[in-house]
Amino acid sequence: MNIKIGIVGASIAGLACAIKLLKLGFDITVFEKSTEISYARGAGIMLPHKLFEDLRQNDLVDENLKYFLMSEFSTFLKQDDGKQKLLTQTKYHNAVTVHWKSLHDALESKFDKKNCIYGRTIITFNSHVNYVELITDDNMRYEFDYVIFADGYNSLARKILFPEIKVQTVNYIAWRGLLEINKIDSMKLLGYLYNKEYYRYLYKNGHLLLFPIPNPNASDGDYIINWVLYENLDASNMHSTKKEELIHNNFLPGTMPKFYKDYLYTLAREYLPEFPCSIINLTTEPFTQIISDILLPQYFVGRIGLIGDASTLFRPHIGSNATKALQDAIMLGNFIEEEYKKTSPDLGEAFEKWSKSQNEKAQHLFPLAQALGKLLVTDVPDLATLDKEHMDELWSSTIDKYRWYGNKNANLES
Ligand SMILES: Cc1cc2nc3c(=O)[nH]c(=O)nc-3n(C[C@H](O)[C@H](O)[C@H](O)COP(=O)(O)OP(=O)(O)OC[C@H]3O[C@@H](n4cnc5c(N)ncnc54)[C@H](O)[C@@H]3O)c2cc1C
Repeated sequence: MNIKIGIVGASIAGLACAIKLLKLGFDITVFEKSTEISYARGAGIMLPHKLFEDLRQNDLVDENLKYFLMSEFSTFLKQDDGKQKLLTQTKYHNAVTVHWKSLHDALESKFDKKNCIYGRTIITFNSHVNYVELITDDNMRYEFDYVIFADGYNSLARKILFPEIKVQTVNYIAWRGLLEINKIDSMKLLGYLYNKEYYRYLYKNGHLLLFPIPNPNASDGDYIINWVLYENLDASNMHSTKKEELIHNNFLPGTMPKFYKDYLYTLAREYLPEFPCSIINLTTEPFTQIISDILLPQYFVGRIGLIGDASTLFRPHIGSNATKALQDAIMLGNFIEEEYKKTSPDLGEAFEKWSKSQNEKAQHLFPLAQALGKLLVTDVPDLATLDKEHMDELWSSTIDKYRWYGNKNANLES
């Protein structure tokens, strides 16, 4: 097929999309500004089990991609003696966890690198009626029939095509870390015996999530604890200039100043039970993730598509950004395949249908991500009086109306 498609970004969305479109016979060129993808931008990823199966069926990843199937989800509080108290325990969703690096490596192994120009940044583009021109930082110009921007949350195309849409940073932060299981005193592990569990610890200014991911560099079954500690900065007594610095910079592993590390370790000691507190205090290279809201009205303009974080960015509470990147790619392939069953296929029409369908899903889930941020970070219920019944009721009334993979009513949603 002599249709040329340019893709900007060779991360999760860009690679998945490139693999799908190469299989459909398009002439694909991917541009990636890094010479090597940094694994610091992702740690533990949770995906719907059905999507994980779809990735394998679509031959986007191999059978040997390591994952854990999560089957239980427990919420804890801190007791007066510092120990943890179980609040709720639910068997509710079919999710798998993977390491971001393993997923990225798995996609990359299915992608023929001769189709990628690494180390080149797209600095601008020109949209014409019949083609799109991409311009790189070495002033080279490339023409394509269609272009897909998979360039992440700072997307160039989003800024140019939707100047009125600003990234909304929220006033809370995700402190994050990874801890290899062999770095923990085995006695401490008594709090976390099963590698199938997803733990949540509520405290008055947010919550901590813990879930295991397979260790990409070790034998099967060996795992890493992935943790995310959300903190409502409105309730923090940190100096305002320090807060500003925190919510405008992602501190990657190895770059967090001592002030913030000390602050984090103290926060954990103050609000968390012994077991998760020790996990955080043993993490020598914590990092942060800024939380933002972005919702585009459409994912296709002229001859340009936007995919993954370049289009919509959910707050991470619904575990759906990597999921969305992969679903966007699979669905785009599916819409195009359908279109090419017609005698006179129109690729633009396939893009339009894809944009409408993916955007409807995002519009539906976006308020859920915000509502969970409210329930679990900015408006945490009074923990002194919270019991199982009330927590179950708050959780159900927040999530039940959504088609989300974390919701037992929507198990078929991938
Ligand atoms: C600090 C941090 C931690 C995260 N942790 C998690 C996590 O644990 N779990 C999870 O599910 N998600 C996590 N995410 C989000 C996750 O990384 C993305 O949702 C996922 O990678 C899919 O994104 P994407 O492919 O759309 O964009 P990205 O992964 O952001 O990739 C965009 C790609 O485009 C390239 N690029 C950008 N601009 C240009 C340009 N002009 N020219 C050429 N190339 C360009 C970039 O180098 C990059 O490779 C995290 C994000 C951050 C910032």
